[in-house]
Amino acid sequence: MKNIILIAPPAAGKGTQADMLCYKYNLVHISIGDLLREEIKKGSEIGHYLESQMKSGKLVKDKIIIDLLHNRLNENDCKKGFILDGFPRNLNQAEQLDKMNIKIDYVFYLDVEKEVLINRITGRVVCSSCGTVYNNLIETLKSKQENICDKCNSELIKRIDDNIETFENRYETYINETQPIIDFYRNKGILYDIKQLEKQEVFEEIVKILGDI
Ligand code: ADP
Repeated sequence: MKNIILIAPPAAGKGTQADMLCYKYNLVHISIGDLLREEIKKGSEIGHYLESQMKSGKLVKDKIIIDLLHNRLNENDCKKGFILDGFPRNLNQAEQLDKMNIKIDYVFYLDVEKEVLINRITGRVVCSSCGTVYNNLIETLKSKQENICDKCNSELIKRIDDNIETFENRYETYINETQPIIDFYRNKGILYDIKQLEKQEVFEEIVKILGDI
């Protein structure tokens, strides 16, 4: 049983890597962004606040995120090990996670240049049903049929925050608030730097480090 964190700028491919790794190692994928999007779909009052934070590229209040994560981690399936995608995003969240007394074994930092991220944002579409991510502008990441998910045949849609204006804010939030946690985990000796590479290369690099966990 291993617990893993992925840190990366917005649209770097954390979700895709998390899916591939969970499949290979039978781990649970915990995507905070997906949990928030589910909440928004429910149309609850808090959903309106979450949507406005996402649209403006700002972080959601720590208390809401910590409660959400805490509930998710208490579910039975997490005992087999998990990958955290999109948490922590600031130092306070990292410290709160420490206090939960859950051992984190590996933190992978996916370093991707801003220009590459902008490219990915422009073409990114996601399945409205299963959440699989595709990219219309990158040949190897296109769906087989235009706007249809390869896995479940549902419609592909654009995320509300995948536009250049919101991206600039998300990137700034990342630099100011999320980057400091890289040193936090480096100092603990569990951080691994993964260079800017293609999807499959990133995956193989991580697998090389994890071995047969
Ligand atoms: P990306 O990493 O590509 O920006 P995510 O789906 O992980 O996409 O996150 C989308 C948005 O959800 C963020 O811009 C932010 O508003 C919110 N969010 C996700 N994770 C967190 C978190 N740990 N703390 C606060 N807000 C979060």
